[in-house]
Amino acid sequence: MPCLVMKFGGTSVADLARIRNVAQTVKRAHDDGADIAVIVSAMSGVTNQLIDYVSDIAPLADLREYDTIVSSGEQVTSGLLAIALQNLGVPARSWLGWQIPVVTDDAHGSARIQRIDVDEIRRRFEEERQVAVLAGFQGLEKGRQRITTLGRGGSDTSAVALASALEAERCDIYTDVEGVYTSDPRIVPRARKLDRITYEEMLEMASQGAKVLQTRSVEMAMKHRVRVQVLSSFEDKPGTLVVDEDEIVEQALVSGVTYSRDEAKITLQSVPDRPGVAAAIFGPLADAAVNVDMIVQNISAENGHTDMTFTVGNADLQRTISVLEKNREQLAYRELKADPNVVKVSVIGVGMRSHAGVAQRMFQALAEKGINIQVISTSEIKVSVLIAAEYAELALRSLHTAYGLDSA
Ligand code: ADP
Ligand code: ASP
Ligand code: MG
Repeated sequence: MPCLVMKFGGTSVADLARIRNVAQTVKRAHDDGADIAVIVSAMSGVTNQLIDYVSDIAPLADLREYDTIVSSGEQVTSGLLAIALQNLGVPARSWLGWQIPVVTDDAHGSARIQRIDVDEIRRRFEEERQVAVLAGFQGLEKGRQRITTLGRGGSDTSAVALASALEAERCDIYTDVEGVYTSDPRIVPRARKLDRITYEEMLEMASQGAKVLQTRSVEMAMKHRVRVQVLSSFEDKPGTLVVDEDEIVEQALVSGVTYSRDEAKITLQSVPDRPGVAAAIFGPLADAAVNVDMIVQNISAENGHTDMTFTVGNADLQRTISVLEKNREQLAYRELKADPNVVKVSVIGVGMRSHAGVAQRMFQALAEKGINIQVISTSEIKVSVLIAAEYAELALRSLHTAYGLDSA
């Protein structure tokens, strides 16, 4: 029997009517003869509400309790969908992470899946053709027998991990847009849906801010060669397939333009310019688990000194400032400046490997709109720039046009 994993995001299960609609979609696939495992998210807005409760009761709460609370949204939708399926005459059973179990490490709040025990799910496929409805986003940390969660958007990773464990034919990610677009369709009205995208480009797009798939889900799909399709839960149309590079017939120079608002810029002014200065700054930050992304070092106005500018995630900004202030004497900087009003805009495409001038086109397009570039970073298939947050939309749309991505 072919096996299919179907994942439904928050907007797709936002109310009972939509859950009934999801049940119909699952029933059709089941009627076609496949073994079906479903992953559900919490109803749209629920996880945000739960996180707000936690931060209201204690801003830096015990992460084990955080996970107990924020994992609860998915419990509700898994039970509701199982009932909706039973109402349609489809045998179905809900499962929480600990019941399967979906075993994770102990990194509460952003745990990684280590293994999924699918024996019982398989047995029920064979004996009863029962649909398994799993609560996404959650797992079990075996040592302490505590519930864990996988980080925001983690149900995508639950789905890909389950598809890999079940050796499913495909993992269908149902969401509120028709697939993966050349840019966020809510910001760039002329964005086009892609029929196919490579794992590598999808990985860059996800990690540079396109939240349509969680980054870890793409990493896992790429590693275990899981076929992933992103499609709409509201319209019956093929979506976007994430595939190997050799399955793409015509490769565009740039496949996508993304943005991330989750950035903050730090500048340390007038740091002594001598060997070891970067290690002295970034060592303590690494020890404090702060992830540093873009870095530039400038000549300072003062002789023998340098200015160091770098970016961190918004959530790490306060921690970064306190680490740097604690080490102020040793680092000997004159001033620390922090700016959270920045966005990172990136253009991504495997075509960059074989073509020159991609970055130049980006700089030109931004210059024509009078947008100042604060920091630049590149990788083999990506160019990113940091700009003032107020220009995010203008930059995205201009770059989308400059790379010939606009729909007709
Ligand atoms: P779900 O709740 O189904 O997991 P998400 O909100 O996590 O859905 O992800 C879907 C959203 O991702 C879309 O509504 C869209 O605004 C946003 N998005 C950002 N970049 C892209 C892109 N390149 N293609 C498609 N959607 C994108
Ligand atoms: N409900 C979780 C979140 O909002 C997980 C998910 O939807 O993927 O982040
Ligand atoms: Mg999501």
